Amino acid sequence: MLHALVALMLSAGLLLAQAPTPRKATPPKTVRLYVFDCGMLTISTEGVTRYHVTPSEVGEARMPVPCFLVAHPKGTLMWDVGVIPDATVEKQAAAGGARYDVNSTAAALVKRTLKSQLAELGYSPADITYVAISHAHKDHTANLNQFASSTWLVRPAEREFMWKPGNERVEPTFYKELERSKSIAVEKDEYDVFGDGTVVMKAAPGHTPGHQVLVLRLASTGRVMLAGDLYHYPPERTLRRPPPDNEFNVQQSAASRAMIEEYLKKTGTAIWIEHEFGANAKLKKSPAFYE
Ligand SMILES: [Zn+2]
Repeated sequence: MLHALVALMLSAGLLLAQAPTPRKATPPKTVRLYVFDCGMLTISTEGVTRYHVTPSEVGEARMPVPCFLVAHPKGTLMWDVGVIPDATVEKQAAAGGARYDVNSTAAALVKRTLKSQLAELGYSPADITYVAISHAHKDHTANLNQFASSTWLVRPAEREFMWKPGNERVEPTFYKELERSKSIAVEKDEYDVFGDGTVVMKAAPGHTPGHQVLVLRLASTGRVMLAGDLYHYPPERTLRRPPPDNEFNVQQSAASRAMIEEYLKKTGTAIWIEHEFGANAKLKKSPAFYE
């Protein structure tokens, strides 16, 4: 009887010892780009025409909201962090996802948390070295508070825009924890995040004062630009329509578009329009990755 009890206790102990421990990600040998599903925006007709294109020109009006993780041998960079905070998404899980009206023309639905997608790779938000956003609009900033212990790479013009009183295009509760975060003020046109030219932030102002894009040099995939909201729908680009009237600075946006088009051509870089439905649908999603 005693032996049986001891055996039982031993096996119980063994089971406890074998309980799965969270797997921690190790730095990759070459740069990796992971694409996360951070939700979907349903855009009204009025919302589509704001971009100087028609519903028939765009076909699919919905806009995906991706978040991106860059894993570099020397650290990690989180780029754009969703439209609804994870805590809200968790609370609404039973309801089939969380909903949020970004504005009168854009309704968000988010079914997966960003932190669960990071956890699947062995990362927690506290592990992330750097955080940066293409710009501070609500659909790119929802989970910034979770990255308050990362070093924030921010352009001073965008930082000022984020805490400007009465700014309806932003939601300061999404990022109030970053006010005291360690940060690097990015003043130059280009900022080389890891110092080896593989991950470079590039200024493309106009949509917001400090709007920027991220240029990646990947070993097999080649050069890729995560273009933020330089464009929303592909026909804006192919039909060369003027930027929306509600840009922070329309002339600056037009100049940034011209400059970026020239840069893409000169450097052989592929543009990824972050909100482009058709392109996003074809992207490999995490845990798969581009390298
Ligand atoms: Zn956006």
